[in-house]
Amino acid sequence: MASELVEKYFRTNCLPHIWCPGCGNGIVTRSIVKAIDNLGLDKNKVCIVSGIGCSSRASGYLDFNTIHTTHGRALAFATGIKMAKPELNVIVITGDGDCSAIGGNHLIHAARRNIDITTVVYNNNIYGMTGGQYSPTTPTGDKGTTAPYGNIDSNFDLCNLAKAAGSTYVGRGTVYNPNLIIKLIEEGVKNKGFSFIETLTICPTYYGRKNKKGEAVDMMAYLKDSSVNIAAAEKMNKEELDGKILVGELYKDTRPEYTQEYQRLIDYF
Ligand code: SF4
Ligand code: MG
Repeated sequence: MASELVEKYFRTNCLPHIWCPGCGNGIVTRSIVKAIDNLGLDKNKVCIVSGIGCSSRASGYLDFNTIHTTHGRALAFATGIKMAKPELNVIVITGDGDCSAIGGNHLIHAARRNIDITTVVYNNNIYGMTGGQYSPTTPTGDKGTTAPYGNIDSNFDLCNLAKAAGSTYVGRGTVYNPNLIIKLIEEGVKNKGFSFIETLTICPTYYGRKNKKGEAVDMMAYLKDSSVNIAAAEKMNKEELDGKILVGELYKDTRPEYTQEYQRLIDYF
């Protein structure tokens, strides 16, 4: 990462980070910082809220207003912060388990309210920090510490979930292509409403080893070979799309934003 970005946006006294070699979390974190820098946001007007998990360690490394909360509750804390200080750009950092299992309820209601928060999910298909338990995004049949013979659950499509719950901006990218993630986060922050960015990242230590996915470079190659942009996907049939990861800007809508609606009530009474 360019050293000026590190100096400007990271708590250098908290580095080096403790993520494993080959982990994709650094790529997503760098993408968030780059998007903020590209948008020219005042760092004192940015609040980063994270839950619990490997990805949620990022709030400790970043030099904004930050809060590292409890498991699954990042969106509940973020909602309170945004209600109290609507002028802040509130960005939530969360993992697949944190946002869709423990925090699943908060996710659907934040999306339903269309509150102006940008949520960036680091989806590594497993609980990394606690030792490789399967999560709601572990593909059916894949292994985890708690599914040694294969996971029999159906896995969530997080973007479909966020869209169905009411998000007004939904996008997906992978750590193979950080430029797309940066663009999606920029658009998510600009959207006046609930924005949901799923970033598919890699956990070579647990998901990779348990499922014989090879080294980090092999997992990156899989993301590269499996990704299909939404525009290209429109020209492909169902068989061609089987097993592919749809990336890009997946959904956009306009609906009243929650803090503005709340202010309208305050002004009225
Ligand atoms: Fe990254 Fe997995 Fe290591 Fe956690 S356990 S730091 S997600 S590689
Ligand atoms: Mg995870």
